[in-house]
Formats: sequence, C-alpha cells, structure tokens
Amino acid sequence: NKQVVLRDYVSGFPKESDMYVSSSTLKLKLPEGSKGVVVKNLYLSCDPYMRNRMSKLDYESYVDSFKSGSPITGYGVAKVLESGDPNLKEGDLVWGMTGWEEYSILNSTQALFKIHHTDVPLSYYTGILGMPGMTAYAGLYELCSPNKGEYVYVSAASGAVGQLVGQFAKLLGCYVVGSAGSKEKVDLLKNKFGFDEAFNYKEEPDLNAALKRYFPEGIDIYFENVGGKMLDAVLLNLRVHARIAVCGMISQYNLEQPEGVHNLMQLITKRAVMKGFVVGEYYHLYPKFLELVLPSIKQGQIVYVEDVAQGLESGPAALVGLFKGRNVGKQVVVVSRD
Ligand code: NDP
Repeated sequence: NKQVVLRDYVSGFPKESDMYVSSSTLKLKLPEGSKGVVVKNLYLSCDPYMRNRMSKLDYESYVDSFKSGSPITGYGVAKVLESGDPNLKEGDLVWGMTGWEEYSILNSTQALFKIHHTDVPLSYYTGILGMPGMTAYAGLYELCSPNKGEYVYVSAASGAVGQLVGQFAKLLGCYVVGSAGSKEKVDLLKNKFGFDEAFNYKEEPDLNAALKRYFPEGIDIYFENVGGKMLDAVLLNLRVHARIAVCGMISQYNLEQPEGVHNLMQLITKRAVMKGFVVGEYYHLYPKFLELVLPSIKQGQIVYVEDVAQGLESGPAALVGLFKGRNVGKQVVVVSRD
C-alpha cells in the first residue's frame, strides 16, 4: 500500500521534500464489528487548508495537525471494497475524508458521502461536486445573497472555488471580475468561465488603482480567497452595504507573522459586512446544491477546469504547487481510475 507520509512539521513555504512516498503492507480487512469501510482510493484532492495541517498547531483551528511520520489525509473519491455500514456496500463510490494512499481502512463513514450520480466525471467529486463546490455555493449564496446587476469581485478566481463563484454569480446576472496570477489563467477567466473582466494581480503595482479601473462604481460582493494586500485594496473600493465572504487567505498561510490589514474602518463608512465561514457547517445544503449544479453541468451552463496529476507519487509536488500558483484549475491527483 503506497502512502504519502509527512516527514516532519512544516514552517514557512511547504516543499515537496516535506513529504515522501512509502510502501507498507496492509491487510485489506475490516476489524471484527467495525462500522467502517475498506476503500480503494481513486482521486485525491489538493486543498490549501492542508497546509495548516502540516504545521504543529498551537492554536485552536477547525482542523487538526497531521501526524508527522504518518500518511496524510484529505478529501478524495474512493470505491468501497468492504463495508460494516449497512448504507454502503461493496462497489459503491464515495467522496469525503480518506487517506493519501492506495487503500484505506476508514473506521467511520461519518465523513463520507455516497455518490449517486456517475454520469459526470468522478474526479468532479473532489471539486465542483465536492467540498470546493459547496464552498463556492455557501460563501456566495448563503453569506452574500447576491442580487442581479451587483458588482462581484473574486480573487484566486481560476482555482477550484473561484471559477465556480464567478460562474454562479454570472448565472445570477451579476457583473463579475476575477483576478489570478498568470496570463493563461486570466484568459481562462474571460474566455472559458465567462467573467466580464479579469486581471493578473502580479502585474498590477497598485491594486487599489486596478480595482478602481474595473469597478468605477465600487464592489458589492467580494469573495475573499487570498487576504493581505488584496483585502486592503478591496476595502478601499467597497460600495455601501457591501458583503465580503471570507473564505480563505492563502497569501498568509506560509507567513510566520500574518500581514496587518489597515483599511477596516471602511466597513463602518460603507456599512459593510465581512463574515468568515467554514464549509463543514453547510453540508446540510448538499442535496439542494446538487439540484442546482448537476443540471447546470449537463446543460453546459457551468464548466469546470481541472489540473490532473498522475499517480500518488505526484501528490506532494501537486499539493505544494498550490502555494506557487502552479495549478490551473482544480488540482486533483489520480491514484487509480477504477
Ligand atoms: P485554488 O485552486 O485557487 O489554488 C490556490 C491558488 O491560490 C493558486 O493557484 C494561486 O493562484 C493562488 N495563490 C497562491 N498563493 C497566493 C498568494 N500568495 N497570493 C495570491 N494568490 C495566491 O485553491 P482553492 O480554490 O481550493 O481555495 C481557494 C481559497 O479558498 C483558499 O484560500 C482556501 O483556503 C479557501 N477555502 C476555504 C474553505 C472554507 O471552508 N472556508 C473551503 C475551501 C477552500 P494564482 O495563480 O491566481 O495566484
């Protein structure tokens, strides 16, 4: 059983060498009386929050640290080989928390969703039909209540979450601008995902000026994925009654000291709301979300771009690549296609 193991706790930028691939033998058998499952892992999801788990956390977080010297875990798509849960049987497909390894014995099925729709690519359950999809949906619909015609800005806009936020907002009739870190990504935003405008934030010496150019009347909704200087610039460009969904702050995850934010007083001036959220509190909306998104995929109203790395061995590089912007679209690792 090949596994991706965390070598040691990480500080600063994660490196490929912070993890290694090892082989061990695993008896593919559930312990007597277990309500869990044995699964074969098919697709693994690379997600920015996993960086947090690579540190030895000495503060309260919504996730636990990985165990140094042990295989890492994360979201994935897997096939059930043996089940002690009456709701799952051999051959069923599931998505949820699993190990970064070829096969996993999961002691509980609580963090697993059974997959009922297989007429879409299975890897989508690591992205548009899984955790990132629910994140885009919850953050935009539940926190920001978008209205037709409103001005929406999304950062890290070509990624797993961002590409969906923009497309959902377009379907609602909003004016949508996204930023990303390369020309290729900016082209995707405009030509594939249908954003009204997009720009490469790395080529903008003055983010405030850039936002003023794209939002001469200001921003109603900001979907925050990056934090730091971008947030400060957005705060200077809010409209009255603006909403900011604080989804993530990837620019801060590898810093020893997070940067300060200077323009929070704008929240008062603009009577704006800034709210953080964690997707885990919204999974009760998953069936409703599927009803919206499955037909949209099938009718081509929503498209989804993935960056697919082949083989478990490519996992460490794919994961750390998120923090260099190497992924174009949702970063997935294929362990096995069936
Ligand atoms: P992405 O697919 O967008 O991948 C990460 C991207 O972030 C990179 O490709 C890169 O794109 C960008 N990035 C990396 N470093 C920086 C930096 N220093 N400054 C600006 N941009 C940077 O990831 P996801 O869509 O999976 O996640 C997006 C955000 O959503 C993250 O902040 C994540 O933590 C958060 N999240 C929060 C959840 C919640 O429950 N609150 C759940 C899921 C995700 P580029 O080339 O454009 O720089």
